[in-house]
Amino acid sequence: MTNKSFIIKNLHCANCLNKIEAKLLSMNIIEKVEINFYTSTLNLELNSELDEDILITMINKAFDNIEPGSFVLYKEETTDNKIQKKSDHKDCHGHDHDHTEINHGHNHDHGTNKVSLILLAVGSLIFAISFFIDFVLLNRYILIIAYILVGYDIVFKSFKNIKRGNFLDENFLMTIATFGAFAIGDFSEAVAVMIFYKIGEYFQERAVNNSKKSIEKLLSLKSIYANLKKSDGEIIKVKPEEVKINDIIIVKNGEKIPLDGKIILGSTSLDVSFLTGESLPYEVELESPVLSGSLNCGSIIEIRVEKLYSESTVNKIIAMVQNAAAKKPIAEKFITKFAQFYTPIVVGLAILVALIPPIFDGNFSQWFGRALIFLVISCPCALVLSIPLTFFSSIGYASKRGMLIKGGNYLEKIEKIDTVIFDKTGTLTKGKFKIDKIITADNVNENVLEVAKAGEFYSNHPIGKIISNDPTIIIKENDIKDYTEIPGKGVTTTYKGNPIQVGNKKLMETFNISIPVIETYQTIIYVAKNNTFIGAILLSDELKDDSSRAINLLKSLNINVFMLTGDNKNIALSIGKEIGLDKNNIYFELLPQDKVAKIQEIKNISKTGVVFVGDGINDAPALTLADIGIAMGKIGSDIAIEAADVVIMNDEPSKIYELISLSKTNKKILTQSIVFALGVKAIVMILGVLGIASLWLAIFADVGVALLAVLNASKILKKS
Ligand code: ADP
Ligand code: MG
Repeated sequence: MTNKSFIIKNLHCANCLNKIEAKLLSMNIIEKVEINFYTSTLNLELNSELDEDILITMINKAFDNIEPGSFVLYKEETTDNKIQKKSDHKDCHGHDHDHTEINHGHNHDHGTNKVSLILLAVGSLIFAISFFIDFVLLNRYILIIAYILVGYDIVFKSFKNIKRGNFLDENFLMTIATFGAFAIGDFSEAVAVMIFYKIGEYFQERAVNNSKKSIEKLLSLKSIYANLKKSDGEIIKVKPEEVKINDIIIVKNGEKIPLDGKIILGSTSLDVSFLTGESLPYEVELESPVLSGSLNCGSIIEIRVEKLYSESTVNKIIAMVQNAAAKKPIAEKFITKFAQFYTPIVVGLAILVALIPPIFDGNFSQWFGRALIFLVISCPCALVLSIPLTFFSSIGYASKRGMLIKGGNYLEKIEKIDTVIFDKTGTLTKGKFKIDKIITADNVNENVLEVAKAGEFYSNHPIGKIISNDPTIIIKENDIKDYTEIPGKGVTTTYKGNPIQVGNKKLMETFNISIPVIETYQTIIYVAKNNTFIGAILLSDELKDDSSRAINLLKSLNINVFMLTGDNKNIALSIGKEIGLDKNNIYFELLPQDKVAKIQEIKNISKTGVVFVGDGINDAPALTLADIGIAMGKIGSDIAIEAADVVIMNDEPSKIYELISLSKTNKKILTQSIVFALGVKAIVMILGVLGIASLWLAIFADVGVALLAVLNASKILKKS
């Protein structure tokens, strides 16, 4: 099994994707095909090795066959160019986010666009002049010249396609419609059809390019180099991919952090707006963890790298966005299928209109003209493009606001859900525990904090971290052996030869350690040594500022909101009360497997789907089981990013409401576009057949519908 990635060039036709996919899949060697129209990438899974040149020739043949002029390049070829040509310097104050660094080779596209744009302009000018020339023959010559300038490539493409036996695409429709108009002497109309078709195409292309740009903006999270500090102090520029764990890198003012790590020298403020959509500067100091993709807006810092590039936040985000388009929403699948049937049916009907009625009234040229109107209006391009464009705009907008949606299909599902389940710690609460009190058992001569700290030495749990980060006692790593973390319960280890347990009531029960009753509204962590209770640590966590608001907003949408937690009853109920949750919707003292069972139970009751929101700690299975899993807060957490369908990059639970609202807007715009486009087309077709609509009206209606659909989709991106 090998994977190959390519950059696609000159592919403008969104509804050719299915055909290309099918064509590639029909090759024995290709197992899986993923084409991303928006990022212009092609990913293939091959079942055996093949000579690179032969492979690319095969692929290019398939591309050129379906969209003449399109081809692919190996991804690396373009990556190298990028590094040579572009610098990685950004201006913090200027917020030069629009400056796209990653050039996917659109230059070539723009080049051809420019030529055809000039031809279009010249052709249109000649077309306008033709109105002032009364001498019929000259007028017609002039119009033919205008036609050639504007439409030669459409005609050329359609002939090329007919030769290959796949006609019935938009090029073909436009060609026969215009040739037909010439045949019945409507020269002006013929040229006008072409001009407007080309203008429509131009705007669609621009819309696609715009959304491509907003994705590229996201992709520009990636740094082109890292300043690696070698052991002799020399600093060299290397690709982020070449940096190893524990290497030291330097990030200067205005540079993006290339890899995840920890600050070991200096302090600064970061612009994390690329990651979270949050524009406030973010202060970091010695020992602070930093994420790749953040922009250094202050002084120089040194970072010890903690993850390889392939594992780092930026790479994960980019992979997520690139894969988003591969998970096609139902609406998009439907419309590409629809277009496949629609065009032949319309062409068939047009032929019937041209042939049957004249048998009765003998007026061939009139019915021929009406059939042409039918053809002009039938072009399905607006729909085929606007639906993926709408989803893409929504996903692009969401990523700007710090919500990464892994695919259009999830956006579709979110729109329908009726239940949201929140995890407590780290999701509704900050997960930043504070040690309130340390209790030592009677007649025990032990330092409870020291023992607890030894137990939590390796823990990544928010509770474990706060205990192990306490600076008052120093623990030697050598004294610790046999560390085990028991999800939802706590940790066990051996410290200086003594077995130690640190965790909740359930952990103590597991080890048959008897514990006293402690009445409190805090989180209680029991500490045991040599299987005997020696004390407890009482911790408290704070609610997030917008948890209450988030719950209220969701309730206002008639969504049933639940809270699940592994924490104790007292806390669960008091927090639930504070944020306005129904007592019956709160479940506590749950182990990770209990959470999964509860979600299944709630899923069975829910009619239209359940969202689970967690921080990825101890709840990856829950994220997977829910209809939609949303991970928040821990942008560095691998499991969260992998198990979730949506990742919320900042800490606000109210983003869930924003996400649901967005999914509703997305649906509304889709419905508008579809109903409007099909409606107008149906009306004009009927009017055309009845002889009421002229070819002119058909032209304007077609272009108008396409433009409105595209504008409608881009409305989402503009909303702010
Ligand atoms: P929540 O469901 O609130 O997000 P978790 O499932 O992560 O909580 O943990 C549930 C409970 O398990 C915690 O409240 C704590 O009592 C206990 N626990 C889990 N991990 C640890 C640990 N490393 N140290 C101590 N207690 C832990
Ligand atoms: Mg949790």
